[in-house]
Amino acid sequence: MKLGVLALQGAFREHRLMLEHCGADVVEVRSPEQLDDLAGLVIPGGESTTIGKMMVRWGLLGKIQVRYASGMGIYGTCAGMILLAKEIVDSDQPRLGLMDIVVKRNAFGRQRESFEADLQVPEFGPEPLRAVFIRAPYVQTAGPEVQVLAKVNGKIVIARQGRCLVTAFHPELTNSDQVHRYFMKMLKN
Ligand code: GLN
Repeated sequence: MKLGVLALQGAFREHRLMLEHCGADVVEVRSPEQLDDLAGLVIPGGESTTIGKMMVRWGLLGKIQVRYASGMGIYGTCAGMILLAKEIVDSDQPRLGLMDIVVKRNAFGRQRESFEADLQVPEFGPEPLRAVFIRAPYVQTAGPEVQVLAKVNGKIVIARQGRCLVTAFHPELTNSDQVHRYFMKMLKN
């Protein structure tokens, strides 16, 4: 399966390694043509305002929306989740807006800039999932089409809508490949 990792800024190398470990052929995406033959695209964590501006400047934003409409799946982690949201609390930054979610940035508060948690995600199987949160957002509200897969302290941190999957945390910084495998299974079905 050929997958892309958006490689403009942020933790893209770790995603590439994880996807390769799961058996995918991986391209680091920096230009629109590279999206043409991908089954799926991962948008990494980093700084969502920077990644969004670069997506616009390099002609990637519109092209990702077009490729999503023609069947490509997308998995967004952290900043990637922010970029997939229709609405971002108190921000008009550029975004793909493909998921019917309202996302709050840096949402877990100053005391909790960064923390780890073990999540139970029935959809991924019985093994607990180690989740690393770094200045993480959460999903404040989700529309009726959105499937909520996990919460932390009552806040939505994994969600799916059609071919879009988002996590507020960074599975690529752990050795747990559950989320990447789930994304690849999602693209096969
Ligand atoms: N706080 C970052 C943002 O708002 C996201 C942090 C991350 O991706 N780890 O873009």
